[in-house]
Amino acid sequence: MSLGEFDLIRQYFSRRPQRAVLGVGDDCALLSPTPGQQWAVSTDMLVEGRHFLATVPPDRLGHKALAVNLSDLAACGAQPTAFTLALSLPRVEEAWLKAFSQGLFALADRAGVELVGGDTTSGPLTISITVMGEVPAGQALLRSGARVGDQLWVSGTLGDARLALEGFRGTVVLPGPVWDRVRVRMERPDPRVSLGVALRGIASSAIDLSDGLVGDLAHILESSGVGAVVDLSRLPCSADLQSQPDAVRRTCLLAGGDDYELLFTAAPTAEGAVRRAAANAGVEVSPVGEVVATVGLTVRDVQGSLLDLGEYAGFDHFLPS
Ligand code: ADP
Ligand code: MG
Repeated sequence: MSLGEFDLIRQYFSRRPQRAVLGVGDDCALLSPTPGQQWAVSTDMLVEGRHFLATVPPDRLGHKALAVNLSDLAACGAQPTAFTLALSLPRVEEAWLKAFSQGLFALADRAGVELVGGDTTSGPLTISITVMGEVPAGQALLRSGARVGDQLWVSGTLGDARLALEGFRGTVVLPGPVWDRVRVRMERPDPRVSLGVALRGIASSAIDLSDGLVGDLAHILESSGVGAVVDLSRLPCSADLQSQPDAVRRTCLLAGGDDYELLFTAAPTAEGAVRRAAANAGVEVSPVGEVVATVGLTVRDVQGSLLDLGEYAGFDHFLPS
């Protein structure tokens, strides 16, 4: 028995509306904004072969498609409320749909965010989610707020997702347990939503790390009109990445995409507040450098020499790598 478009939506993507006044099933969803809050809205698209490999289990893909979107809300300090899902599927495979929707809704429920609509078509496997969140008016964390003298922070550890990608590419050989751990970091990233919310009024700027530290930090520096000095030895890294050869570790730390950690700045006087916010959110944070007046990014290695950052530039879909 094959499933049609509307049955597919009903069976796998319709649930009773929670906060939404009207959810899946009509021409539009209806949402009631909370007075005094601004909407934070973001869209991220995942295309097979570009953003994920065909080998990813569907439940992890459902998780990741939402996670990368929630990560953008986290970077703005917004509390997730609702999302829409546009899905292009080559064929209807119920086992796939079941696992995908389970992974998606498990994260949605944890994050308190509700699926309110979408679109479903046939075509190459592509998942596009638009997520909406709320933030008190004027309190969103922006890329443009970094000030000279601010400390630069990152959450969690960096580079494991890239290490997993190198494992898939065969440029590194990883023992079984290491492989399993880093693959989870790549396929099931944990968006730092509570940290983002906790950093409202504390961080001066923020961005989520999707394209690698060097590339993403450049966005903050450009928007804020400042520079930064980062110490390679202070970049937080897992034991798995720590045990890799120097060159691999460097690439993963500086240019590793797909980490979905937060990179943010805060005044040195806010250090205690940053640490308390992180402790409340249950996330580790590490100071990794500082914001300086000289435009551009400088990374110092352990010996204090400066690295050439050309090879660590962020990922760009339309530029040759
Ligand atoms: P329209 O004809 O107005 O484009 P559709 O037939 O595409 O509407 O969708 C019917 C309903 O199902 C709408 O409420 C739409 O938001 C919802 N919907 C479609 N695809 C999805 C999906 N993948 N996830 C959640 N809701 C969906
Ligand atoms: Mg439609």
